Amino acid sequence: MPPSHRLVPKAMPDVPARPGTFRRIVHIFKPYRRKVTFVATLILLTSGLGLINPLLIKSAFQTLLGEGPADERLTTLFWIVAVMVVAPIVSGLLGLWQTYINNIVGQNVMQDLRNSLYAHLQHMPLRFFTSTRTGEIQSRLSNDVGGVQKVLTDTASSIFSNIATVISTLVVMFILSWELTVLSLAILPAFLVLSRKVGKVRRDVSGQTQESLADLTAHMQETLSVSGILLSKAFGRQSYEIDRFRKENHRLSQLEIKRTMVGSGFFSLVGIFFSVTPAFVYLVAGYLLLRGRLEQSPADLVATVAAFTTLQSRLFFPMGQLLNVNVEIQSSLALFDRIFEYLDLERDVTDHDGAIELDPAQVVGEVRFDDVWFRYDRPGRERPEDERLWTIGGVDFSVKPGQLVALVGPSGAGKTTLTYLLPRLYDVDRGRIQIDGIDVRDIRLESLGETIGMVTQETYLFNATVRDNLLYGDPDASQEDLVAAARAAHIYDRIMEMPDGFDTRVGERGYKMSGGEKQRLAIARVILKDPSILILDEATSALDTHSERLVQEALIPLMSGRTTLAIAHRLSTILAADTILYLDKGRIIERGSHAELLARDGAYAALYHEQFSDGRVETRCEDGLVLASGEVIPEAL
Ligand code: ATP
Repeated sequence: MPPSHRLVPKAMPDVPARPGTFRRIVHIFKPYRRKVTFVATLILLTSGLGLINPLLIKSAFQTLLGEGPADERLTTLFWIVAVMVVAPIVSGLLGLWQTYINNIVGQNVMQDLRNSLYAHLQHMPLRFFTSTRTGEIQSRLSNDVGGVQKVLTDTASSIFSNIATVISTLVVMFILSWELTVLSLAILPAFLVLSRKVGKVRRDVSGQTQESLADLTAHMQETLSVSGILLSKAFGRQSYEIDRFRKENHRLSQLEIKRTMVGSGFFSLVGIFFSVTPAFVYLVAGYLLLRGRLEQSPADLVATVAAFTTLQSRLFFPMGQLLNVNVEIQSSLALFDRIFEYLDLERDVTDHDGAIELDPAQVVGEVRFDDVWFRYDRPGRERPEDERLWTIGGVDFSVKPGQLVALVGPSGAGKTTLTYLLPRLYDVDRGRIQIDGIDVRDIRLESLGETIGMVTQETYLFNATVRDNLLYGDPDASQEDLVAAARAAHIYDRIMEMPDGFDTRVGERGYKMSGGEKQRLAIARVILKDPSILILDEATSALDTHSERLVQEALIPLMSGRTTLAIAHRLSTILAADTILYLDKGRIIERGSHAELLARDGAYAALYHEQFSDGRVETRCEDGLVLASGEVIPEAL
């Protein structure tokens, strides 16, 4: 299967649990094998202790119905009763201990699973996130891992304890009377067949439930985010969304009811069976007694039947659960499969063994694109060559340290894609990209990330304080550094006006701040990061003149001294560029300075006349660019 097929998993595998799932589950428990062994010992002990009382019932009856002096028999009875009181207490305490250790193991395993899943997802390529619903990812992390918890803390240990109880009880029952034991178990094979069938239904329903849960989570995540709610309000689609939610929610409830009922129905059937069989035991025992086909004395028979039926009732719960085990295991395997499926997703963009660590401070910042080709639809890579299918084709250019390259061109030309290739958000398919002469694929991803700073069109801020958002750029920055960066990005005064200054929360995705403020805060964050290479995707959304100017002024210290690859929408950036690359359909069709390209009177000149020569910029002066309004904006760099 081509790797890219595996990047986007199906919502629910409807193939049987993959071979190896069980082995992998066992592997997860490996670090806790001591605790698991201890739990197993406790389980064996408690099931052994559980046998004492039924056996003592027999002795109690024998003592009562037997012969001998009354006093002696009373003393014996006293001791029997004493042990009958102590045994359950000890067993209960051991059970509690077992539950405690069991929970520790279960929670630790859950923690491990969540950690590895999250770490794996953090390293997944951008391609995965652009093609998977965020809610689906969240659902696997929370709902599926959460579902597994029940399996780990309940099912795994209960299987073992049930097996121990059933085997030990059956052995004693056999010793007491093999005829009655066979009678009690005669109908069992029918249940085994039934349990397989019920198990399959449960597994299907379970899978559908998790899928529905993921859909619901994805829907909530999409529609209850700030952007989602803005969209639904702006389009007056609230009723539509509520209706959609109701339908999915209804589906989920129906599935949950079905899942519970399938399990409970089966369990009740087993319950009825075990409640009814003692009656047959009395009938058969009575028949044997009355027909005189017994070698035992009547007292012994009563004692045996009393002990036997007690043992039988002890069987009901574990046997019911064991018959249900197939059902439980099938549903849990479905959950594990969903988790393993994510863990197995290929990382695609990874460090190779010999990848080198770059010291960001040593990076000079020379960037070179060498005949770079890239396309998004990777399965088609093997298809016959068709140059139009490449999003980026044969791109060749280099940027000297500290220089500014402006990327311009029509929408969809591949400008953003081109910038994504440098920090390896995607890997090039052909050709190579070098930083200071080193192929980016030979640089460890983390140090590559430290070397390059990105200011994206859409500013992303965490719902945390201004300080936390800034510290993301440099966790070790001092208050002075923060202030200096904020000043340089022209956001300091605004921060100081906020109710708690640097400790003000910016709201979900920074929605409490204006577009321009967010951009400036994002710029301050990159200033703090101090990367040698900067990728700047200038926002196209129009800001008012004042805000625009502040952002432009903020960009000056950011770009100065850094190699910058800018997707330029502002004339000031274009004019300040050392080289302008005009991109169309993923190819560089023109390159040069503003003056050279205007003189050529090609695509760039057309773009310039269309977008910028509306009189907004008149000319350049010593202080910067002079707008038609007479305003002077400082020229970047
Ligand atoms: P704009 O100026 O409008 O942002 P752009 O020049 O930055 O456009 P890109 O975003 O690089 O253009 O897109 C180049 C082409 O690649 C477009 O045709 C786009 O539809 C396609 N594309 C972008 N991202 C993806 C993706 N994740 N998967 C598949 N195709 C994509």
